[in-house]
Amino acid sequence: MKYIDLRSDTVSHPTAEMREAMAKAEVGDDVYHDDPTVNQLEADAAALLGKEAAVFVTSGTQGNLCALLAHCQRGESILIGDTSHIFRYEQGGMAQLGGILPHTLPVQSDATLRLADLERAINPDDEHKPVTRLVALENTHNMAGGLPISAAYTDAVADFARRNNLILHIDGARIFNAAAAFGVDVQTLVAGADSVTFCLSKGLCAPAGSVLVGEHDFIRRARRARKVLGGSLRQAGILAAAGLIALHKMRDRLIEDHRNAQLLAEGLSEIPAVDIKSQNTNFIFFSLADDASVPLDAFVHILRRDYNIFMSPYTGESGRIRLRTHYWIDRAAIAKVVSAVSAILS
Ligand SMILES: *Cc1c(COP(=O)(O)O)cnc(C)c1O
Repeated sequence: MKYIDLRSDTVSHPTAEMREAMAKAEVGDDVYHDDPTVNQLEADAAALLGKEAAVFVTSGTQGNLCALLAHCQRGESILIGDTSHIFRYEQGGMAQLGGILPHTLPVQSDATLRLADLERAINPDDEHKPVTRLVALENTHNMAGGLPISAAYTDAVADFARRNNLILHIDGARIFNAAAAFGVDVQTLVAGADSVTFCLSKGLCAPAGSVLVGEHDFIRRARRARKVLGGSLRQAGILAAAGLIALHKMRDRLIEDHRNAQLLAEGLSEIPAVDIKSQNTNFIFFSLADDASVPLDAFVHILRRDYNIFMSPYTGESGRIRLRTHYWIDRAAIAKVVSAVSAILS
């Protein structure tokens, strides 16, 4: 790549090995369950996360929506973080298409929901109120700056859910980044969850696709939901072939992205006009000092025009820039970014 794109890990292109596997993939009609490559991906994903079954979906958004449609009836409510991706960035699909009511709770600075808040939010059996059906967590937490949440906390929420007859869904778009950050097997982070969505694109570099895992009967209902959402693909083995490489060969190197994010944050923090706000997993947030030589928009513009370095101002909070490292950002790229930022701000 002739440019350095730090806007997101979603910009990561498939690797050469993925492109080759895609070209050679054995395929069939997946709606007939005839695609051996999709079947393999689903079996491997279920085994890796320690669940009974899996379904390949087009995106994380579709995986989360299929899960909520399969778990909940119209008029039911779910407990979910007020800054969660599902609530903020998925167009309210649960309400729009499923008649499901999000009951939001404040996400704490460590990316968790307080157990006391969850407890208080459960509706009693009262005909005035929607039935509370599910709790949703997010790991790593996007709006909280890529923070991973621990197995111990997730287990506590799973216990709480079981005691109260609630379902636990995890939006694990970057669950493998969380596993890498804690140095644990991914199964320990999702052991108590009834369902989990994770993305094959983003840090794992597949061109598209996510996977939803859970029990057999739940996955059967999620498949029905996927169909009505228009997400049932035919010779999807072309995509699943890249997904298999994402699943088996790209997870172990995510820790490099975290180290690179740390290196980049350290390099940038030496520049006086840069104020690093946070660095977790593969995320960095920073702002520019009030007396910086250029305003934020001009800074981003000059980086792109003169250095082929792409950053985007973060839409969630004005005055900040969010960076995410990924496979295509190596040490040499990090050195170039630090020197370009330093030159612009000097
Ligand atoms: C990226 C993301 C999703 C879903 O992403 P798609 O762009 O629909 O694949 C869901 N949750 C979180 C936390 C994400 O970061």
